Amino acid sequence: MPGSSHADRVVWEGLELNASSSREGKLFHDALGSAVAVRELLEDGSVRLKVVSHRERHTKADLSDTLFHSDREGRRVFLEIVGQAVLLAAKLELRHLQLAGVSLSEEEARVDLYTFDLKLDRERLHRIIGLAKEVLSSGKMCFTVKSKQEVLEVLRESREFFLYRRALEAPVERLSLVEYGGNYSYTAEPLEGVVEFSEPIITLVNTSRVHWLGEATGIVLERLHVSGYPSKQDEQLYSRYLSEVRLRDHVALSKDMDIYFTEPSIGAGLILWTPNGARMRRAVEEYIYKVHVKRGYEPVVTPHIALGELFEISGHMQHYRENMFTFERDGRLYVVKPMNCPFHIAILKRRRWGYRELPVRYFELGTVYRYERGGTLHGLTRVRGMTQDDAHIFLREDQIEDEIARLLELVEEIYSAFGLTNYTFRLSVRDPRDKAGFMGSDELWKLAESSLEGALKKQGIRFTVGIGDAAFYGPKIDINLKDALGREWQCGTIQLDFNLPERFNLTYTDEHNREQRMVMIHRAIIGTIERFTGLLLEYYAGRVPLWLAPIQVVVLPVEDASKTQVDYARSVARRLEERGIRTACIVEGRLNYRIRLARKQRIPIIAVVGSREVEEGSVTITKIEYSASELGMYKAKEETLKLSVDGLIDLVIEQIRSATRGILP
Ligand SMILES: [Zn+2]
Repeated sequence: MPGSSHADRVVWEGLELNASSSREGKLFHDALGSAVAVRELLEDGSVRLKVVSHRERHTKADLSDTLFHSDREGRRVFLEIVGQAVLLAAKLELRHLQLAGVSLSEEEARVDLYTFDLKLDRERLHRIIGLAKEVLSSGKMCFTVKSKQEVLEVLRESREFFLYRRALEAPVERLSLVEYGGNYSYTAEPLEGVVEFSEPIITLVNTSRVHWLGEATGIVLERLHVSGYPSKQDEQLYSRYLSEVRLRDHVALSKDMDIYFTEPSIGAGLILWTPNGARMRRAVEEYIYKVHVKRGYEPVVTPHIALGELFEISGHMQHYRENMFTFERDGRLYVVKPMNCPFHIAILKRRRWGYRELPVRYFELGTVYRYERGGTLHGLTRVRGMTQDDAHIFLREDQIEDEIARLLELVEEIYSAFGLTNYTFRLSVRDPRDKAGFMGSDELWKLAESSLEGALKKQGIRFTVGIGDAAFYGPKIDINLKDALGREWQCGTIQLDFNLPERFNLTYTDEHNREQRMVMIHRAIIGTIERFTGLLLEYYAGRVPLWLAPIQVVVLPVEDASKTQVDYARSVARRLEERGIRTACIVEGRLNYRIRLARKQRIPIIAVVGSREVEEGSVTITKIEYSASELGMYKAKEETLKLSVDGLIDLVIEQIRSATRGILP
C-alpha cells in the first residue's frame, strides 16, 4: 500500500540537456558546448563531417548527429581543426617553410614544421598563434573532401613535399584538402565546409623537435604542441566534462562500491570479483542466460583447456599464438582456451544434421584467457581472463538474412533491458578489388553482404559501411555504444564465417540427400561481462538500475541500541532475501552515518525502520531512481514511501520484471 508521505525530488546529476540554436543559427549545447561538426551519412555508407559555420542554420533535428566540443569525437575534430589553423598560420608568417602535418594526442594537436634550421623565437610563435586565431574566425578556412589523387596533385603544385609524402602513404582513398589564403594542407578526417568560430582560444602548450620519419633521415622538424577551445564558455564546460570523466571512472567507482580488485600475487588482468561485484555479475549472467534460452539458443558448456591440435585445425595456432597461454604435459602441448568456437564446433560435429534442423544455436557464457601486454591492461576493460556471452549459429546460406534480423531484435531487447539506448551499427564489407585478402567465392560474399545489409535495412537501422574492414573470413556488423560523455564502447559483434566451416568440414544433408557446406555466425552481444560491467558503471556513474544493483535494498533500524528495532530490521532483511532480493542490513553506528554509507554504495532502496514501523509491521523507504535520457545524462527521482514488507517485495519484483520484460526474476 502506498504510504502517506510522498516527496518528489528531482535532482539533475551532472549536466543538463538543452540544446539551442542562437540567433546566428549556431548550435550550442548547454552541457556539451559549441557544435563542431555534423555527421552526414552518404549514399555509399561513408561518413562526412560537415564543419559548423555561422552561415548555415542547424536545427534541433541535427542533435544526435552533431559533434559537440565537449564530447570525445567533437573534441578530437576540434583539435584537428586547431592544428590545421596553426599549420596554415605558420605558412602565413614564414612563406618559405615546409608544412609537415598535424597529429593528435589525447589533449593536444602537434603541428610539425620544417624551418630549414631557422629557430622559431617567442615573438614569432606568438604571431603564429595570433594568426591562427584569425584563420579560425575568418570564415575563410575551407575543407573539401577529394580523391587522394587530387589532393596529392594540389600538394605537389604548391610544393608541400612533406605533406605530399605523408598523404601518399595514407591508407585511404579520400582526403580532405584544407585551404586558407592560397596555402594548402590536408587531413584524413572527412571534413567538409567552411570553419568559423568567432572567439576561439588557442594556446601554445610547448615546443619540441622531432625527427622526420625516424632518425635515419637526419631531418629535424619543429613541433608546436597546441590546445584550444571554440570559446571561453567551451573551456569552462570542458573542465566540467573532465571532472565528469573522473567521477565516472569505473576503477574508482569499483573501490567505493567494492566490486572487484586485482592482486599482484594472482596476476595482472585477472579479476577477483568481491561479493558485491559477483552479485551484480550474477544478475547479468542470469538475465543473459534466460533471454537466450527464450530466443531458441541451446546451452553448452566446454572445458577451459584443450590440446594444441584443436587450435591447429582452427588456425589459431598459426595466427594467434602470441595471445595464447600454453603449457606442456606428458610431452603434449595444451592451450588455455582463447576462444570458444572450436569447442562449439566439436559439439556440433557429434552427429549429422539435416537441412530442416538448421539453424543450430549454441550458447555459452564462455570464459577465455588471452595474453594482453602488461602496459595495455586497464580496470575491467582490458583484462587477461574474461567471460563472453558467446554463441555460434550454424545455418544454411539461405537462412542468413532471417537469422541476422532475429539477432538485431535480440540486440535491441538486451540493450534496452540495461537501459542502453544510444548505439550505432557498422557494417564491415570486403574490398571487392582485393581478392587475395578475403577468402570465399564472389557469390558467397555478395550473398552474405547483401543479407547483412538487407536485415539492417528491414529493421530500419541506420548504419555506416567500412569497405575493406571485413575479417578475411567474412563480413560483420559491429555495435558501438555511446555513453553519457560521447565516448564509444565497442560491445556487440555479429560475424559471418566461411572459413571455419571449411577447416572443420561442417556439412548438412540437403533435400536431395547431398552434403552441403554450412555457414557459421559468431556473435556476442554484451561482449565480455568484465568490459560490460565497466561500461555499466561508467554509463550510470555507479547508479545502475535496480535489477542490476549489487545490493537492492538496505534495511536500517533507526536506533542501533534498540534490540526490538535491530531484530525487526534483520527479520525484514531475511524475508526479502528469501524472495531472492539482494539485501543488506546495517545495524551499527549513527543513522546518518549508515545512510551516507548506503548512498556511497549507490543502493537504490533505503528502508528505515523505527518503533512505529515495528509496531505496524511496515517499512519506510527512500527509492532513488535514475533515468537516462537520450544523450545519457541522468535525472534522479527520489521518492519516500511507507509500505508493508510484502508491499516492498512486490514493488522490487515488479520493477525487475518490467525492466527485463519478464525475463527476471
Ligand atoms: Zn566464435
